[in-house]
Amino acid sequence: MIPYGRQDIDEKDIEAVISTLKSGWLTQGPTIPKFEKALADYCGVEHTVAVNSATSALHIACLALGVEQGDTVWTSPNSFVASANCAIYCRATVDFVDIDLLTGNMCMQKLEQKLALAKKQHCLPKAVIPVHFAGQSCDMEAISRLAKEYDFYVIEDASHAVGASYRDKPVGCCAYSDICVFSFHPVKIITTVEGGAALTNNGAFAEKMRLARSHGVTSDQNQMTESSHGPWYYQQITLGYNYRMNDVEAALGLSQLKKLDDYVARRNAIAKQYAAGFANEDFIQPLVVSEYCYSSYHLFCILATRLTEITHRQVIEKLRSHGVFAHVHYIPIHLQPFYTDLGFKKGDFPQAEDYYRQVITLPLFPSITDNEVQFIIHTVKEVLCDV
Ligand SMILES: *Cc1c(COP(=O)(O)O)cnc(C)c1O
Repeated sequence: MIPYGRQDIDEKDIEAVISTLKSGWLTQGPTIPKFEKALADYCGVEHTVAVNSATSALHIACLALGVEQGDTVWTSPNSFVASANCAIYCRATVDFVDIDLLTGNMCMQKLEQKLALAKKQHCLPKAVIPVHFAGQSCDMEAISRLAKEYDFYVIEDASHAVGASYRDKPVGCCAYSDICVFSFHPVKIITTVEGGAALTNNGAFAEKMRLARSHGVTSDQNQMTESSHGPWYYQQITLGYNYRMNDVEAALGLSQLKKLDDYVARRNAIAKQYAAGFANEDFIQPLVVSEYCYSSYHLFCILATRLTEITHRQVIEKLRSHGVFAHVHYIPIHLQPFYTDLGFKKGDFPQAEDYYRQVITLPLFPSITDNEVQFIIHTVKEVLCDV
């Protein structure tokens, strides 16, 4: 079976982990700040806060922006549930902005219309979380313009998009957002086993996120309410969590980061092969990538435009029976039972729902061979012709 994604771990990664295990520092050692600095330099951003998952990063990002009960946060329905759950953790209300069928990203027209309506109804969002679906940045210039006009914060969920760029700037530079979040889950672009990071150019947000990732506890005299009792002393000055990354994970991340550009280049080369393979099939539509974006191609998704709910399922099952582990990204978040219990229903975000019925995620990872890609192209065409 060819999986839809797979991590790439080489001898250098293994050596990095082993030498950290032997170093005496397992948890909060010198490698975390090294990894944070390397990631900040790579992205051209001032502050990086490494954590144990992108889910944690999204949560502390919301906390840093002061998201709380009574606030509303908007995100894309075409994402993993974590993009929305982070607002619920803060007791805020979640709403969604429908997507653009061609890219799978939040639709800018829909966002603009929804903002204009929300302004009239006095229910503007405190924050919007655009998701860079499959590795392609959303139109951040447009979002940042709207953020200024309607006064909301922007958190980029760039879980798919480390190594991507937008208008020649690396995703993660936060030129158009308050905070940007990456995931280092093994299925994503680079891995720390489990892990994530929140990036920002705002020192106050970074400080709040550092506190939130570690129990709300500080050893910094400047943050304390009274002078230190001695070298052992710390204070808890806010409520935080244990969301820390550890040194072993950071060592793997540091080693993986060195290969990031090669991974993304290889992912782009594979995407090109797929696009060429499907170029003459008008009922197979790969997602469109704008000319101002360089995608990290976390996923390669096609829309099989002739499919129904039933044939869509048959196609995925047949592909898997042929050894191609096709997948579907994503089940619209608003149709998950947890969210329908909150009042969302079928028909609320029709583009995301149409998209869900047509999308097929094909295997894409750095070590997939050109032969495997050709086999997948051939199998997909054959299976789709049969339905
Ligand atoms: C994977 C993913 C997350 C969660 O990442 P974790 O590191 O597993 O917590 C959040 N948002 C999106 C869009 C993702 O794909």
